[in-house]
Amino acid sequence: MHRTSTHVVLTGDRPTGSLHLGHYFGSLANRLVLQDLHPVFVLVADYQVITDRDRPGEIRRNVTDLVLDYLAVGLDPAKVTIFQHSAVPELNQLMLPFLSLVTVSELGRNPTVKDEIAHSSQAAVSGLMFTYSVHQAADILFCKATLVPVGKDQLPHLEVTRTIARRFNDRYGPVFPLPEAMLSDAPLVAGLDGGKMSKSRGNAIALKATEDETAALIRRAVTDSERLITYEPDRRPNVANLLSLAGLCLGRRPQEIAEEIGYGGAAALKRLVTEAVNEFCRPIRRRRRELGEGDALAVLREGNARAREVAVRTLDEVRDAMGYTIASRAAS
Ligand code: ATP
Ligand code: MG
Repeated sequence: MHRTSTHVVLTGDRPTGSLHLGHYFGSLANRLVLQDLHPVFVLVADYQVITDRDRPGEIRRNVTDLVLDYLAVGLDPAKVTIFQHSAVPELNQLMLPFLSLVTVSELGRNPTVKDEIAHSSQAAVSGLMFTYSVHQAADILFCKATLVPVGKDQLPHLEVTRTIARRFNDRYGPVFPLPEAMLSDAPLVAGLDGGKMSKSRGNAIALKATEDETAALIRRAVTDSERLITYEPDRRPNVANLLSLAGLCLGRRPQEIAEEIGYGGAAALKRLVTEAVNEFCRPIRRRRRELGEGDALAVLREGNARAREVAVRTLDEVRDAMGYTIASRAAS
């Protein structure tokens, strides 16, 4: 397997809630293609949960739920290493030298961090919120990933990773490849309120939602009172978002769907979107119902062990490149 591979792929998600359509079209769809071509690492970024909240919350349940979402969409643990941040302490050790390679003002300029600070419910910005893009550099570089399938919000973070890799190599010798982002055709799927669809902003359609929940969410979406449905993202962003969602699920152009609805108004539009989403999610939801916590834990046990082996090797290389000697290793 993977004998002719030219890439190593790393990507991941925070276990902060169910995966949604934004994840599917922004990143999961690419992962499904890549898993047949290259070694793929998928990170359950459980430590990153506390970047913008005080406590990890229902972390155990959220971690297993996330893995079950992966399995339900078709990620295959025989091909993909699915692992947790908290299970690979070497990642945190990599973060330390990496922090020395970026400046405070570089970290402060990151537009995604600024946006997330604006949406955070915390009164003050934690040190982790400010530095988690460096944490992500460790996630990406520990397995020497060259390709990172992500949504558009991650591009500034990937730039931080590239900067760190470049500076490390310049200072200490060539250890890391410079990874490239891989954007999908839907790099920023809007939620039902028009902003980025996000697990934690109450505007998402979860892949595992029931058909009734899906219908209720779409019914509540804001539209307008014009009966003729048209695709005009600038003038009618809410209507355009719904058309785009249907378009993604049906694999059709939103303009074409608008023409089909014609004078049906918001009610016909919402009916069509609901059917499109439910139809699209049906096989994912069916598979999801057949899986249980035990399946997720088994996948993680194996993935954590595989990721850790790789991380230990890379950390050794990093220490060697920097000239650090570990007494116990040197003695043996
Ligand atoms: P949270 O609100 O907790 O931050 P999230 O919905 O933003 O959750 P993440 O776990 O932060 O999800 O992101 C995981 C991956 O999914 C990232 O690669 C991100 O770019 C991508 N992604 C998330 N939301 C979208 C979206 N609406 N459109 C496209 N890609 C997305
Ligand atoms: Mg996010």
